[in-house]
Amino acid sequence: MSLLPFGNLPAYAPRKFVPADTDLGDWNQLRPLFDRLAARAPACASVAGLEQWLLDWGELGAALDEEGARRYIAMTCHTDNADAEKAYLHFVEQIEPQTKPRQFRLSEMYLAHPLRSRLPRGRYEVFDRSTQVHVELFREENVPLETEEAKLSQQYQKLSGSLTVNFRGEEKTLVQMARYLEEPDRALREEVWRLVAERRLKESGRFEEIFGGLLTLREQIARNAGFGNYRDYAFRRLCRFDYTAEDCVKFHDAVETEVMPVLRELQAERRRELGLASLRPWDLAVDPLNRPPLRPFERVDGMVEGTQRIFDRLDPQLAREFSLMRDQRLLDLDNRKGKAPGGYQSTLSEARLPFIFMNAVGVQRDVETILHEAGHAFHALAARDEDFYPYRSAPIEFCEVASMSMELLGNRFIEAFYAAPEAARARRDHLEGIVEFFPWMATVDAFQHWLYTHPGHTRAERNAAWLALMDRFGGDVDWCGLEAARAQLWHRQLHIFLHPFYYVEYGIAQLGALQVWANSHRDAARALEDYKRGLALGGSRPLPELFAAAGCRFDFSSATVKPLLALLRDELAKLN
Ligand SMILES: [Zn+2]
Repeated sequence: MSLLPFGNLPAYAPRKFVPADTDLGDWNQLRPLFDRLAARAPACASVAGLEQWLLDWGELGAALDEEGARRYIAMTCHTDNADAEKAYLHFVEQIEPQTKPRQFRLSEMYLAHPLRSRLPRGRYEVFDRSTQVHVELFREENVPLETEEAKLSQQYQKLSGSLTVNFRGEEKTLVQMARYLEEPDRALREEVWRLVAERRLKESGRFEEIFGGLLTLREQIARNAGFGNYRDYAFRRLCRFDYTAEDCVKFHDAVETEVMPVLRELQAERRRELGLASLRPWDLAVDPLNRPPLRPFERVDGMVEGTQRIFDRLDPQLAREFSLMRDQRLLDLDNRKGKAPGGYQSTLSEARLPFIFMNAVGVQRDVETILHEAGHAFHALAARDEDFYPYRSAPIEFCEVASMSMELLGNRFIEAFYAAPEAARARRDHLEGIVEFFPWMATVDAFQHWLYTHPGHTRAERNAAWLALMDRFGGDVDWCGLEAARAQLWHRQLHIFLHPFYYVEYGIAQLGALQVWANSHRDAARALEDYKRGLALGGSRPLPELFAAAGCRFDFSSATVKPLLALLRDELAKLN
């Protein structure tokens, strides 16, 4: 019996290079394919021959990518199945370490190819520049350092995951404790918040030690690659060709001047509604009017029906695409025993079809998640006709425009789930979440800029730098007596430890999504057409062009942020 939710999905286009009966989990069958590509490269004697070589190389990449995705999906849908786990680990531990150096070698051969300069420039410039970075940053001596980095990252995850508290006689994880912060009983919230903060503070020395180790390794990795600091190295490694560190600093400034006043207004309103003299850190997640949580649906079928109704009203093409995903069983959405936590969208690169995984339990957050992941799925389908595999996916800064726009556009028809007053509340929660996200994003990003441009700093200095950012972006929350916890709030932000500099992307994408939404207020049909046009480009063009095709400016200064915040404020006022 197959462990995959969907049935047989044929490749979108028949393979031309990888034999149909190849076992993609067997390195002995894959090796000859890499050998053939390596032998063929120097023999490509025409531009057309080199282009065919690129397509064949991409075909192999897509086949491997889909194989990995299928094994991952099977494992996450059946965490209690030992065979599924074994099959996935085999691929990650036995196949990928073999394919990576071979892919690297092919990249080198491509860059050195004498005919590369004769390829149509507009077609290949985006592929060329990321391939170049991939090759140019590689240093043999960084391989063991990266292994060390991965080990330390794992220690962070182990430490974070192991933390529990004893709450009223029961051992609870910190994740389990988070939901008590939504309880109307303020004394309970405070008790829970303090318990968690104290537990974390007890480990603060270990968190600092792990981070110190990561910092040292990263500084060395950057030096080995010829960079003066890790920030500049990270920008290059993340292929940030279209924006600079200075642009990010401008973004932080724009958040300070344009977002902070709106955040402070929202906080003041919350404080009044709760009837408090000041907001404390445990007053931020509770419903300010003490209402019970929204209940958009009872069963997952109801969520799928409701989501379909939203797309039926939004656009006939997107409605057809969502309905195709239902028919092909490309959705696994219910929370059940034996399923991994969380949610994701994955693309089956040969079938060129998307798959959505979720653990829906009947809360408003589930509706936001299905709209979000559906946006990613529409992106994959929009780029389906692109034959060059690397161009069927876009950089993350634009992928998240596809998904976050869909949350905003879909929310317009949220009555598919609610009567009018609840619909207004759901919209309000969503828009408030967007306002609150920007300052946190700016704090996390600006902190990392500071960390990696102040070599030799002490623990005390970096906590002071964090506090200065909390003063700038924390708004009007009263931390009196909680200074130690506040200074080390960054210990809970996984990205700082595991994925350095990877966070501003969500802020950039949210600006794009808000622009799509703003466009839809002026001309809904046109905004949607532009959105689809941007998605259809896949990853074939640089970010500013993807944004432009979707009707947005790729700019994060006040000029872009200001009107979007004005719109958010107007819409929030209407929902009161
Ligand atoms: Zn996403």
